[in-house]
Amino acid sequence: MTTCGLCGRAYPAGDHCPDCAMTAGFGPNRPSPFRSGTLWAMAAGLVVVYAITLTVVAITS
Ligand SMILES: [Zn+2]
Repeated sequence: MTTCGLCGRAYPAGDHCPDCAMTAGFGPNRPSPFRSGTLWAMAAGLVVVYAITLTVVAITS
């Protein structure tokens, strides 16, 4: 059973709330999207974009 985060009603896990139809997105039983290296992948992408921009600026100026 899961408790609805909006209205507090208990409903079966994996389903949506029968009262307000809200699905459980983030909760204590759900894995965090920033846990399995996603945050580091985003940081690496940011560094790559920064390096490309730095190279383009260094070449054109
Ligand atoms: Zn609800």
